[in-house]
Amino acid sequence: MVLFEKQIEELKKLLSKSKKIVIVPHKDADGDTIGASMAWFIVLNQKGFEVDIISPTIVPQNLRWMKGYKSVTIYENRRRTAKKIIENADLLFFIDFNSMSRTGEIENFFRHIKAPRVLVDHHPNPEPDIANIFFSDDSASSTCELCYDIFNKMGFYIDVDIAESLYTGIITDTGKLTYGTIRPHVFNVMAELTAKRADKDKIFSEVYQNISLDSIRLLGHSLCNKLEVLEGLPVAFIALTKEELEKYNYKPGNTEDFVNYPLTVSGITISALFSERKKDYIKISLRSKGNVPINEFAKRYFNGGGHINASGGEMYDTLENVVNLFKKRIRYFLKNY
Ligand code: 5GP
Ligand code: MN
Repeated sequence: MVLFEKQIEELKKLLSKSKKIVIVPHKDADGDTIGASMAWFIVLNQKGFEVDIISPTIVPQNLRWMKGYKSVTIYENRRRTAKKIIENADLLFFIDFNSMSRTGEIENFFRHIKAPRVLVDHHPNPEPDIANIFFSDDSASSTCELCYDIFNKMGFYIDVDIAESLYTGIITDTGKLTYGTIRPHVFNVMAELTAKRADKDKIFSEVYQNISLDSIRLLGHSLCNKLEVLEGLPVAFIALTKEELEKYNYKPGNTEDFVNYPLTVSGITISALFSERKKDYIKISLRSKGNVPINEFAKRYFNGGGHINASGGEMYDTLENVVNLFKKRIRYFLKNY
């Protein structure tokens, strides 16, 4: 476990010079980036800072119950306001990402901003110029697990709202404590969060039992009609067209878990989900089992990255071309990685 002693001292120094703080989760937000952002928002608010959260893209509906959501400014909806808030910040927090490109449309704007940046993240190999202070540890299950330790070291009080935000990030990034880097410590953190009255039933119901009928039907359609297995390979994928997403009234976050289902088929060790989010813009989710470094595959061929078993990427091309590229490249990658 990383101790972060130097980083803690540096952060204390920076905080003593700051008044306005902006917290930035990554685009296409998930439970971990939002849970950790909300937790920092509450903690820093309690300390008397003026805190804003700028999310590059909208927050999935099943995460909007968290305390702090009302203070989120969505960049893609309010560019001018968001830019003003960022320009006025004394300090920026980048939460749960290791590459500037994960801030989406804001990326170029950030490059002109002078305020120091603090990275809190659990992805391997963060870009060296992404921040001034790095709380980076890829042996953590989630950024939320990391935040729990940082808050304790900073002497921040963890109330029930913070506990629930962190709990959410841990369970969503680990498939309810089944995959990803699970070290014994994460169970201690879960115990501590439960002791602080994080309500597991409420969280489960908000996060996992809160989807639309359309989106469960889209899952059915995906598994029944769209799941393909590559002949002779342990690889399965689902490719969804823009029309299909629209037919089932797609909203961000609705297909979050789809990519995990093919891995439940015996013998399948690699799974991919392609979604045509916009015309000729394909979002790719990738999963692997065991020691297949799917993050290297995502980085090399699909402008992405992530964790060894859970990664993603994106491409500006037709769905058909992207799927064909995938088929060729995964065959090559499996022979040569
Ligand atoms: P998901 O498939 O759930 O969207 O993403 C899984 C993981 O892959 C994320 O936690 C993130 O680490 C990584 N990831 C997803 N999309 C991208 C991307 O476009 N670029 C990079 N660098 N990483 C991504
Ligand atoms: Mn994460």
